[in-house]
Amino acid sequence: MIEDKNKSLTSISELGEFGLINHLTKNFKIQHKSTIKGVGDDAAVLNITKKQILVTTDLLIEGVHFDLSYMPLKHLGYKAVMVNLSDVYAMNGDATQITVSIAVSNRFSLEALEELYEGIHLACKSYGIDLVGGDTTSSTKGLLISITAIGEVKKEDVVYRNTAKESDLLVVTGDLGAAYLGLQVLEREKQVFEVNPNSQPDLTNYSYLIERQLKPEARKDIVKLLKDLDVKPTAMIDISDGLSSEILHICTQSKVGCDLYEEKIPLDPQVISTCEEFDLNSTTIALSGGEDYELLFTISQKDFLKIKANPHLTVIGHITEENMGVNLVTRANQKIKLTAQGWNALKGD
Ligand SMILES: [Mg+2]
Repeated sequence: MIEDKNKSLTSISELGEFGLINHLTKNFKIQHKSTIKGVGDDAAVLNITKKQILVTTDLLIEGVHFDLSYMPLKHLGYKAVMVNLSDVYAMNGDATQITVSIAVSNRFSLEALEELYEGIHLACKSYGIDLVGGDTTSSTKGLLISITAIGEVKKEDVVYRNTAKESDLLVVTGDLGAAYLGLQVLEREKQVFEVNPNSQPDLTNYSYLIERQLKPEARKDIVKLLKDLDVKPTAMIDISDGLSSEILHICTQSKVGCDLYEEKIPLDPQVISTCEEFDLNSTTIALSGGEDYELLFTISQKDFLKIKANPHLTVIGHITEENMGVNLVTRANQKIKLTAQGWNALKGD
């Protein structure tokens, strides 16, 4: 699909750098009053004066963070935006603008880049984001995408990682582990396909897992939900590397301990059935899987009734004093010290 073997595909060199940016961004519409000038000048001009500004950036590299043999370019574009928006929402803020920079080798056609930008466009449209700039350049090998997201938050609304308090409740949104299992399923199918290119995979039993891997959604809805419920988290982080490493970030930075209850960890039925099939422990997958892009936060106990029984929110533990440590309380009521087995970007295999 992406190899430039087909004669009808357009080489990116035909458009030149500026022609390419104009072509790829022509369908993007400005949605925010704060965007005074988007693409088309030396720099974007934003007018965000009354609030605090959030800035976050993420770099994705082919072969390290994604594999194009099972990640369609449109999904990659969408996911690359979600990864960044998730960090803005984790500050309890509203994402407003992004810049997108890509480096591509000449094996990518114009049509391939159009697909990538289709996914970016869909993400911008669905989440109300303005694309305000970026750069395209050539790479000798593979594809690199760097996205910077800009957001805004009222000074009194911003939520940090280092402000969890003893006796707070630990809450997670959605469910965990599915994105990692989706990746395992796709890896397995890739290997089957390499042995037998005529094989037709039946992925119906894994549809939710694959969707969570290929098309994650950042939890913009939760920021609004918490405002509607009149709950301000005491600390918050998004789950990109796995539940255990995110809990450890909150606890280490807040200088507190935590008891996490194994039986409370929310799991989709497909996660449970696929863990059985792959002979994996579902708790381990939820703790270490990563890429769920759910939000993990702490709330004061006085807010418990406001979130109780909400289908998006699950209380999974509580904050303790620092010297109690960070523990998993198992179904057998044993306490196990939690370690960050979550995926580490700088750790070799
Ligand atoms: Mg984050």
